[in-house]
Amino acid sequence: MLFTYPVEALACNWLNDNIIASLVDGMTAIDGGGTPLAWPNCLPGATRESLRRQTGLRNRLTSFWAAYANLTPDGRTTVRDVVLQQTNVPNVYGDTTLHCCSLDTLPPEVQPAAEDLADYAFDKLSSLKVDGTALRDIHFKAIQDSGVKVCPFCGLQNFQPAGLKRNALDHLMPISKYPFVSSDFRNLPPACHACNSLYKKDADVLYDNAGNRRSCCDPYGGPVYRVSLLGSRFGEGNDVGGYTMPRWSVSLEGEPALQANTWDAIYRVKLRYEHTLDRDFLGWIKRFALWLVREDPAVRDKPPDEISEEVPRYVENVLQEGFDDASFLKAEAFQVVASACDDDEVGEDARAWLANFVYYAT
Ligand SMILES: [Zn+2]
Repeated sequence: MLFTYPVEALACNWLNDNIIASLVDGMTAIDGGGTPLAWPNCLPGATRESLRRQTGLRNRLTSFWAAYANLTPDGRTTVRDVVLQQTNVPNVYGDTTLHCCSLDTLPPEVQPAAEDLADYAFDKLSSLKVDGTALRDIHFKAIQDSGVKVCPFCGLQNFQPAGLKRNALDHLMPISKYPFVSSDFRNLPPACHACNSLYKKDADVLYDNAGNRRSCCDPYGGPVYRVSLLGSRFGEGNDVGGYTMPRWSVSLEGEPALQANTWDAIYRVKLRYEHTLDRDFLGWIKRFALWLVREDPAVRDKPPDEISEEVPRYVENVLQEGFDDASFLKAEAFQVVASACDDDEVGEDARAWLANFVYYAT
């Protein structure tokens, strides 16, 4: 991803932990030959008051424990292991030595209860309130207040401004496979519509389609990567509107590479950047030409060499910094132009190409 969310947004991230603590306490009581504490004493003390009226939670925990009590000792061990593995967030994101079994490895008798509890807990994020504000709204507002306006998984789409409908939360570890982190905000980064609904969908960030373990970025802890277009070849790419685009070479700079690979495999960012560049590059060049002519109309009489020398000044003074308006991509694209203009082989062509936009800028 391009940047991370602030950890302050996790200030009210207590629901999942408390449900799991209660679930595990009940399982321990059953393993000891007893029964889970009665409602609401089975809830951790700190949240007992907030959750005691949630009888839907009581019913789901009870169903889960009833199914658990009927398991063999091996079955119970499996359940405990899977709960521990799935809730080991964020460690499980980056450490590929940690196994993380999914729902279908649980004994079939407890699977429906686990799914039901997961759905219930996730829904509760929208209705459980602290000081009159739902947990999801507290979480999203903290992200908005930190100045995040753009989706960090692609940098191409804006988030909804404050006061409008929230952006969707993306289950990084999908709820269909990892029910025990369904309501953990650490597993629930907001994502833009394209990232969430067109690319990520139900993809598993921990295992690829062949079942190989992979690692992913922690949306609140990183790592983060820089998009570079170094190695793009001027005048060798696709034909767009009668112009030959550069042949874009998108790389994700940063360490470790494994997380970047997963990011790209799931969100297809390199492909999306290539298409965005093909679509927007000419517009960016035309805007550069207009800016230059507006700054100094006499520039139209200058030779291509002097025009191309203005590119670094444009990047430094006019292009925005950060992630608004795809500026991270725009600045890199102008870098490709600047390098091409300096190149021994294609420099003359590149400078003439660029100067033509200035000569005909209107
Ligand atoms: Zn996105």
